[in-house]
Order: sequence, then structure tokens, then C-alpha cells
Amino acid sequence: MSAPKQFMKQRPRSEEIFRRATEVLVGGVNSPVRAFRAVGGDPIVVDRAAGARLWDADGNEYIDYVCSWGALILGHAHPKVVEAIAAQARRGTSYGMPTELEVELAARIRAAIPSCEKVRFVSSGTEATMSAVRLARAATNRDLIIKFEGCYHGHSDSFLSEAGSGLATLGIAACPGVPQALAALTLNAPYNNIAAVQKLFDQHRDKIAAVIVEPIAANMGVVPPVPPFLQNLRELTTRHAALLIFDEVITGFRVCYGGAQNSFGVAPDLTTLGKIIGGGLPVAAYGGRRDLMDRVAPLGPVYQAGTLSGNPLAMSAGIATLDLLAAPGFYELLDARAKRLGDGIAAMARETGAPATAVRVGSLLTLFFSGEPVRNYAGAKKCDTKRFAAFFRAMLDRGVFLAPSQFEALFVSAAHSDADIDRTIAAFRESQASATQSS
Ligand code: PMP
Repeated sequence: MSAPKQFMKQRPRSEEIFRRATEVLVGGVNSPVRAFRAVGGDPIVVDRAAGARLWDADGNEYIDYVCSWGALILGHAHPKVVEAIAAQARRGTSYGMPTELEVELAARIRAAIPSCEKVRFVSSGTEATMSAVRLARAATNRDLIIKFEGCYHGHSDSFLSEAGSGLATLGIAACPGVPQALAALTLNAPYNNIAAVQKLFDQHRDKIAAVIVEPIAANMGVVPPVPPFLQNLRELTTRHAALLIFDEVITGFRVCYGGAQNSFGVAPDLTTLGKIIGGGLPVAAYGGRRDLMDRVAPLGPVYQAGTLSGNPLAMSAGIATLDLLAAPGFYELLDARAKRLGDGIAAMARETGAPATAVRVGSLLTLFFSGEPVRNYAGAKKCDTKRFAAFFRAMLDRGVFLAPSQFEALFVSAAHSDADIDRTIAAFRESQASATQSS
């Protein structure tokens, strides 16, 4: 399943570092999907990055479509973001007390996403979704939540059943260590299936606190909502006095300056954000209706806190990033680049007659190794993951780094040039052919 020899990159130093990593880190990594388990071989060990490029510890160069799992919409080490972080570092890296920077970033978020009347910053998407659900349970005095199969909302206990992302990659349907009593409070429905949600509401009348959803699913590969799925969720939750939570950790500031909720015209009660709002530093947030957010401590009894929450380095990186994203034409240009890539991949799949379907929403993209359209997790799971693995390795050997799993998105950044994209399409064509031969 490997690419022709002449393309194979040598990685002796990366291999040596990774061997040492496996002795001191679990699986050699700090987040499972990085271990390349689904695609085989050792992971690349990164030395540095700039713009759309990554270099490994052996000096091999890659065009990067992982972009820190979507956090780096401007590409790596954007000079203005680096400058903001460096300037703040000289003034102190963490105070554990309020700063004007937090106000500035929160004000930008509120202006861009009107449903976020008030915001609380945390340090990871996991914390954001966990806290939003706690708040929803407190506000409704109900315990059950509905999530969707193949969506990923971080690794807190309530979200680890039928989840996408790394759990889909590793085939973990339910996670040991999550008490059965707690797991039973999470109900799953197929994405894009409003009848299934309606049924859960009928079965559990007055017991459902919230529905949490990725407004564009991106953790089973990219699966857009089929209208009027989100509108229907809004109506159903309102009718049953449950809350609607949009997990916009990936989609926030990804498809427009704001959330996917702006594009679809559906306002949730609570929103979670992460990735882009931290400009590549650890920041996430939850926000929403003022009356709900005011239940969080210190105004209300719903407790949630963090030593590094609102960290000034991260706030500075977030502000610098959002200010660049606010420039007129930013999203149009990004969309044009991503369209060039999406169209190129789709044409390549047609030409080669491969059972592959390219899906793109803005700068989020997935090539599903399936001849059928993917509308939910059951559909995504039908993909030929062996073929994806062969394809992934062939791309890597041609200097293109994709997410090492069929169940993830490719992220196009503003740093990807037309030339990068054309090189990527050429590599796609060759890799598709080589994956066909080897599968
Ligand atoms: N929600 C979504 C939609 C995500 O994609 C992720 C992570 N990719 C998370 C939550 C969890 O974020 P984190 O990894 O920062 O905990």
C-alpha cells in the first residue's frame, strides 16, 4: 500500500524521535489521532511551520491541510499573530486576573455572533461543551441530552458515545471509564434525521435539557446539514422547552466572520467556540443568551473556572486573528481557493472513475472513499478506510499532509496559494491512481 519508491520521503530523525516518544508518552502522542494508527507508519515529527508549510525533523517539506485541526485559518506563524503574542509575552504571560484583552475578544465575538450576548472563555473545546451542557441542565432542571452520531464534542464523559473524530478513527463506540449511569443520560440520533429527534422527544417528554449539534458536521468527514434540519431542531427544542447548543468549535469564524449560525440563519441558545478564536493558542469559549449565561458563577450557582482561562497570550493571538479575518473580502478569497481545490478533487475523482465523493463547505473539505453521498455517520462508516490509508500515505510521500483519518476534514487556510492547490490536485490524481493499484 505504499507509494512508488521514488516518492518515498526518508524520515530517520523523525523515526528516532518518535521511538523515544513511545517510551515516555502514551502511544508517543498527546492526542490519539496524531499516532497515524488508521493510516499506518510513524507520524511525522514536526520541526517548524510557516504559512501553508510544515517541515519535519528531517527537513522534509509538506503542504499542510491539517492546520492544527482547523485552528490556523491564516496558516502557520502569521507575522501579525506572532507579533501580537511576542508583544504580550514581554508584558507577562498569565496574570490570573481580568485584562482588557478579554473584553476586546469577547466584544468581537458578540458583535459577530449576536446570539452570544455574553461569553465565558475557557482553554479547550472540551471544557466549552462540557460547561455548556452543565449550564443547560441547570437552566432546564433536566438531565438528558441529545447528540448526533458521528459528531464530536470533546472528550468529557457525556460525549463519548457514538462520537466522531478520534473515536471513529479508532472504532471506539463507547468509552470504558464512563459510568453507565452517566452514559445513559446521552441520547444519540442520526445526523440530518429530524424524525429520530422527534421520536426521542416523544419518548422522553419533559426530560431533555438540550440538543447539541455541529451545525456543519466535520468530525465524521464533512457532512453539511440538509435544510431544514437546523431550522427543525430550533423549532423542536423551542416547542419542548429544551435548549439548542451549536458546537461551533470548528465552524466558528470558519465559513464566515461569525458562526455557521449566521450563514444558516438559525440562532441557538448557547454556542461553543474554539480553534480559530485562539489563533493557534489554547482558547475556547461558550456563550449565549444573557439570562442563561448569568446563571454561571459568580453571578449564579453554575460553577466553572480555570487558572489559565482568558490567558493574555491567547487573547492577543485571538484578537489579532479576528482583526485579520474582518478584512473585506477575506472569506471570498478563502472560499475561492477552497473551491479551486474542491473542484479539482471532484474532477480528479470523476476522471479516474474512483468510488469517491468530494464534499466542500467553504474551506472545509473531505474526499469520502464511497460512491454514495454521505448524509450521516452510518454513511461515513461505509467508506473504504483501507483505500483512504493508501491514499493518505501516497499524498504524504508527495509532500501533502492531510488529516490521518477518513473521518476528519481538510482545512484550507488563507496561506494556501493557487500554486499550492494546483500541486495538491496533481498529487491527488497520482495518489488516487496509486491507491487504486494497491487496494
Ligand atoms: N467540538 C468540536 C466540534 C470539535 O471539533 C472539537 C475538537 N476537534 C472539540 C469540540 C473539542 O475541542 P478540544 O480538542 O479543544 O477539546
